[in-house]
Amino acid sequence: MEMPRPNPQVIARKADLIERLSRVLPADAIISDPAETRAYECDALTAYKCPPLAAILPASTQEVADALRICHDMGVPVVPRGSGTSLAGGALPTEDSVILGVARLNEVLETDYENRFIRVQTGRTNLSVTGAVEEDGFFYAPDPSSQLACAIAGNIAMNSGGAHCLKYGVTINNLMGVTMVLMDGTVTEIGGAHLDAAGYDLLGLICGSEGQLGVVTEATLRILHKPEGARPVLMGFDSNEVAGQCVSDIIKAGVLPVAIEFMDRLCIRACEAFAKAGYPDCEALLIVEVEGSDAEIDEQLETIMEIARRHNPVELRQSTSAEESAKIWLGRKSAFGAMGQINDYMCLDGTIPVSQLPYVLKRIGEMSGEFGLDVANVFHAGDGNMHPLILFDANKPGDLERCEALGAEILKLCVEVGGCLTGEHGVGIEKRDLMTDQYAPEDLSIQMAVKDVFDPKWLLNPAKVFPLASSEAHRIAAE
Ligand SMILES: Cc1cc2nc3c(=O)[nH]c(=O)nc-3n(C[C@H](O)[C@H](O)[C@H](O)COP(=O)(O)OP(=O)(O)OC[C@H]3O[C@@H](n4cnc5c(N)ncnc54)[C@H](O)[C@@H]3O)c2cc1C
Repeated sequence: MEMPRPNPQVIARKADLIERLSRVLPADAIISDPAETRAYECDALTAYKCPPLAAILPASTQEVADALRICHDMGVPVVPRGSGTSLAGGALPTEDSVILGVARLNEVLETDYENRFIRVQTGRTNLSVTGAVEEDGFFYAPDPSSQLACAIAGNIAMNSGGAHCLKYGVTINNLMGVTMVLMDGTVTEIGGAHLDAAGYDLLGLICGSEGQLGVVTEATLRILHKPEGARPVLMGFDSNEVAGQCVSDIIKAGVLPVAIEFMDRLCIRACEAFAKAGYPDCEALLIVEVEGSDAEIDEQLETIMEIARRHNPVELRQSTSAEESAKIWLGRKSAFGAMGQINDYMCLDGTIPVSQLPYVLKRIGEMSGEFGLDVANVFHAGDGNMHPLILFDANKPGDLERCEALGAEILKLCVEVGGCLTGEHGVGIEKRDLMTDQYAPEDLSIQMAVKDVFDPKWLLNPAKVFPLASSEAHRIAAE
């Protein structure tokens, strides 16, 4: 993976930088010993590593602003970091950069049930947002499988999704406002605890901007009433394509399950061994969940199961208890961890129109054979958000490169059928060089012009999102 040449002048001024940072941050919020900065050398895309120059852990918006102002004045690149669970290398440092971690910004600032919002500092983990309101019958809907660990900061930066986003939408559909600090230390308020803001939709721009435009320190999030009840149904099929066709037919019928999740045989077996979820042994499994009162659930499931029967399922089973439902979801949510126990893998994140699922699943099977690498599939099928996991051996020379080449072909296939390079994991460094397959040079130029406005020196989160060749002119102009 090509990265820009680190700036030797920045590295040479490390001692000066640390001294200036220590004027605005407590000593224990600055990590500069190389033995300790290694803790920040990568995120969940562990194939790429580089320890940063230093890491800082501010505890307030003011501390973030003061630290950014110093880095800005000294021309030091800054990589914002939440919990470091990005699968796209979004929080990968460079040798001359400072990691700005928001882990200490983890307070709940305001809870308003009448107007259904919660305001939090963005280092708070996703699951603990629901944790703060669930006793009062509310929840925060976006539910990435990493929700126990990942922070709201990273969720906003990647516009993260999850299994239940089919009905409730992804982060942007549940985000009302942010406090964001620009690279020069300016503190900005965007959106808020009201429906829609006047002027440009800057919130839509910030959400999914991958730490390129500013450091988000606080967020106002929509919270929802917990549904009366929910029930998943397991559907087993004897081929991926048939399961894909069933998903497409459910969506076409106009019923809206809260989730439709897909797993193929490799994943089913790994998850079953890991979580003992009671999954059938079949080629492809769908978990379809609906919500509402018992009567509403029965009515929706009747329609959905009737559609499934037309595809000759080898298993069609409704959950009969809360414990069984919890196990079914534990299996699915453990999928990445369970696969990691049996193999090295790279997790892709392409999105396709749902009607293309059968074709794309068939092509992925063929491509897997052509490249000689197994591919396991587990994904949010209702949204067409695919996560092919390419299995490889990190210790075998050439395997990573073969895996990356296959990954690139699969993502290009997603674009070819009318989809896009990323549904929820972001571009990071992983898909950076494929952006030219999705966008014309003019389209990329507009996106980079936006970065010019927010971060004219191009110091925030270097080398992510835009291919280095495409961004070179902007980076040189910024120097
Ligand atoms: C096992 C596993 C399962 C996963 N499942 C899902 C899933 O179901 N759905 C999904 O969407 N993702 C999933 N992910 C990916 C990942 O968890 C998400 O992308 C998550 O939102 C990253 O959050 P984080 O706090 O760890 O961010 P980090 O990894 O720390 O950073 C991610 C990006 O956010 C930027 N950033 C961090 N903090 C800030 C800030 N304060 N201001 C501005 N930018 C910032 C970083 O620079 C980086 O570009 C999974 C990952 C793992 C390891």
